[in-house]
Amino acid sequence: MNTSVITPDPRSELRSIIERLSGQRMSRCYQCGKCTAGCPTAYAMDLTPRQVMRAIQFGLKEDLMKSRSYWMCVFCQTCTARCPQQIDIAAVMESLRLLSGLEGRMPVDREIGLFHKHFLTLVHRYGRVWEVALGGLYNLTSGHPMASVSLLPEMLSRGKLPLLPHRTENLKEIRDIFERAAEVERRAAQVGAKGVA
Ligand code: SF4
Ligand code: SF4
Repeated sequence: MNTSVITPDPRSELRSIIERLSGQRMSRCYQCGKCTAGCPTAYAMDLTPRQVMRAIQFGLKEDLMKSRSYWMCVFCQTCTARCPQQIDIAAVMESLRLLSGLEGRMPVDREIGLFHKHFLTLVHRYGRVWEVALGGLYNLTSGHPMASVSLLPEMLSRGKLPLLPHRTENLKEIRDIFERAAEVERRAAQVGAKGVA
């Protein structure tokens, strides 16, 4: 999306949907850009956090749904801490991901979806990510079997890649978080993506 020539969509309900899902007021954003300046993954986004906020204000649903930005967000909340308007931008990013899921959309980049799926599967199973398995699963299913393999020897020698999964004492609590997340998704579905333009 070329944000220098964007045209607002007055019929779009995207803004109100995201406000309902995130609990944030989009009109509070005055485009100062502090969120983008502090975002550690903005370099990998096609729309910066500030541009995401603008696109929501303008109701540009399709541009946003096709964007990889909210999939690249790691929910570190730096943007939220920096925003002079106290907007929880991380919650906005999460709402976009939630909306995408409610509509049965996959990330534009297939690899992003695969990475998320394997990451969550491993965290659900072991209580935290098992890096060797994550790398192996991702490489095998993404069609890039040799991706980053050259880094293996050094990472192994530095003890950064345990060959066995970590032991997690609080697996039940972790799985409870998954159940709560599923409940949030169910409730969000009831809040409804109905009428999204
Ligand atoms: S920091 Fe807050 S006010 Fe500034 S652009 Fe980002 S969301 Fe908008
Ligand atoms: S929460 Fe997401 S958008 Fe905000 S600074 Fe962190 S990675 Fe960037």
